[in-house]
Amino acid sequence: MSEEPYFSAERQRMVDEQLLERDIVDPRVLDAMRMVPRHSFVPIEHRHLAYADGPLPIGRGQTISQPYIVALMTQLLELKRDDTVLEIGTGSGYQAAVLAYIAKEVHTVERYADLARLATRVLDGLGLSNVHVHMGDGSRGLVEFAPYAAIVVTAAAPSIPKPLLEQLAEGGRLVIPVGSRGGQILERWRRCGSEYDRDAITPVAFVPLRGQFGWDADDMC
Ligand code: SAH
Repeated sequence: MSEEPYFSAERQRMVDEQLLERDIVDPRVLDAMRMVPRHSFVPIEHRHLAYADGPLPIGRGQTISQPYIVALMTQLLELKRDDTVLEIGTGSGYQAAVLAYIAKEVHTVERYADLARLATRVLDGLGLSNVHVHMGDGSRGLVEFAPYAAIVVTAAAPSIPKPLLEQLAEGGRLVIPVGSRGGQILERWRRCGSEYDRDAITPVAFVPLRGQFGWDADDMC
């Protein structure tokens, strides 16, 4: 038996047991999570756990998030077909692939060249031509392609990076974990003119966002 039928069955079970049993209800998010092959983004030594209910190491001390957290953050973005989305923290590329399945264009920024290269290769291999991987300090956003209908930060920030708020389109949503290095609150911000509404969603634990508007790199070893 080839790998794919096995992984595909595991993936459907992941959606049924980890997402539908919780509070994931957006049909576009559920569809994307049923389609995107998470195992392709997981290092070979952890691939048998690709559809388990938790995060996994992807190298460089970084992790691919728990499937439920990927689904929750995507649902909170309230994506529409025509949206251009910015992700900070490409990592494996999995979250970017889920976004690409739903939205029009996805720009994703990673600070490690080797992770960015590997993610690009996997995304290209899947034919996801609407994802664009960029190298750099994503705590500053990505001003070239702004404004964005949605921005998601998949690393923990000590406070809200101001450039990200500035790069949101009118009505745009920003989903970001904010707090200390040990634990954060997932927040959703929404732009209304020059004002922003903020909702606190749930406690989470992410790897740190580094860079100018994250934790200083020297402080982070
Ligand atoms: N979304 C990823 C998981 C991200 S882990 C996935 O689906 O696999 C967090 C990632 O954020 C790591 O790869 C880390 O290198 C990256 N990161 C941390 N600070 C960053 C910054 N300032 N700019 C860009 N990427 C950053």
